[in-house]
Amino acid sequence: MKKSELLERARPHYEEDQVLDLEHAIDIATKAHEGQKRKSGEPYIVHPLSVASTLIDWGMDIDSVIAGVLHDTVEDTDTNLDQLEALFGKDAAFLVDGVTKVSQARAGMQDLAAYLPQTKDNLSKLLIAVGQDVRVIIIKLADRLHNLQTLQHMSHDKQVKIARESLEVFGPMADRLGMGRVRMEIEELAFSYLDPQAFKKLQNVVRKRLGKSTRKLGAVREEISKVLEKENIKAEINGRVKSIYSLHKKLKKVDGNMDDIYDLMALRVIVETKEDCYRVLGILHSLYQPMISRIKDYIAIPKPNGYQSLHTTVITPQKQIVEFQIRTYDMHEFAERGLAASFHYHDQKNSKDYTRNKKSAVLPTHMQWITQLQEIATKLRSGEDITSDQLNVDLFGDRIFVYSPKGDIYNLPEGALPLDFAYLVHSDIGKHAYGFRVNGAIQPFDKPLHNGDIVEVMTRKTNSPKQAWLEQVTTTHARNKLRAQLRQLGVISGISHAAAIIKQKTLIKKKEAKK
Ligand code: MN
Repeated sequence: MKKSELLERARPHYEEDQVLDLEHAIDIATKAHEGQKRKSGEPYIVHPLSVASTLIDWGMDIDSVIAGVLHDTVEDTDTNLDQLEALFGKDAAFLVDGVTKVSQARAGMQDLAAYLPQTKDNLSKLLIAVGQDVRVIIIKLADRLHNLQTLQHMSHDKQVKIARESLEVFGPMADRLGMGRVRMEIEELAFSYLDPQAFKKLQNVVRKRLGKSTRKLGAVREEISKVLEKENIKAEINGRVKSIYSLHKKLKKVDGNMDDIYDLMALRVIVETKEDCYRVLGILHSLYQPMISRIKDYIAIPKPNGYQSLHTTVITPQKQIVEFQIRTYDMHEFAERGLAASFHYHDQKNSKDYTRNKKSAVLPTHMQWITQLQEIATKLRSGEDITSDQLNVDLFGDRIFVYSPKGDIYNLPEGALPLDFAYLVHSDIGKHAYGFRVNGAIQPFDKPLHNGDIVEVMTRKTNSPKQAWLEQVTTTHARNKLRAQLRQLGVISGISHAAAIIKQKTLIKKKEAKK
């Protein structure tokens, strides 16, 4: 990647003065990294330019691209943030600062399973960076992707270390942001270094099987094309091949039996409207016999990262099992690019809207967890104590969907308790709760909710929150609201007291875990 190449790529997407700024940034970075070399022997500047180029491909705004060019200058050269701010403005400098902090934090989070208190500070930095601006993580993903693409120049030990960290931290991070294509690229590269033998073996298996199934699927595809045309549905039908790493993960679940893998190759039907998605599903089910347990409506109920599609698996008259994914072009775009899609340069949004406190206003609702991160970040900054447990849950824990009796959907972390739900609906509902009915049956305050539960909160105006409730909430949101109410009622005196209770609770939990 050369300066001229990068500018060529940028020109069609940004204003003239923005491209000038970018050129300026390239010059500054080139000078700052002068004399430094990558392990490959190439001049160091090749790396930040490649990162910036990836960010252009992902459709990021100009501040992100400029920050991509400058992302290693503060950490690795004499350049400082004040200089960058004076030259390229607050936003770009802020992003470079965030990326630098994440790099520092990374050192402390090689093993997600071992989030011990001593890594908390590093993790906090990471969270604060994420909480303030999610573009920091997107730049970091582009950075990691290029490092993986050039991993062959590293020592074996370094390769393994970076590959493992990529699978444990960066893959899930991309997934959290709904960036499916990036997640897959990261996982494939990382897995090929972490377990080269398994990778090659699976690659061969897939190659062999694919030839066969491509031929068979061809007939199915043609048949569907014809029917859809007759029904006047404009559709694009593609084959989607399962990635090696997700195949590896799935094989582990089915004890290594390839015959249990139905979706090695799936057919993807892309249509123009949501209505067409359901029509296509109906047509498929009238043509072939569906496997009932494998029908998934991620359009009505998107995955927590915002992914939408209809999934179904059918059996053809030739006894062939075929998986389908049906989605609109918009859903497809989001599935591939995720949150990066919302920073799109074509939208010409004011990049300030995305930063700091304003961000939650523009984030799609299914990205609630980012808002929760911001809450945690605010607490960390104000010096309040957070257990590493909480950090884990909110960043990487799985999430569940539960329903109100009216059918409204709410998104909670796994293990959430009824009061968490009540406070999520409204702090007044939480305040006046005296009981819960889950799927029609009375449920105690301390029993966790499950995916798909219908939760009814029974309230009474005369009811008020109790101190013991602090042990019956798990989310930061509910705890904050509850604590504020308790303080108002004079039940607890201040932050320190509540923090003490949480600490005590954590200790009890730890003791229980030891038993
Ligand atoms: Mn870098």
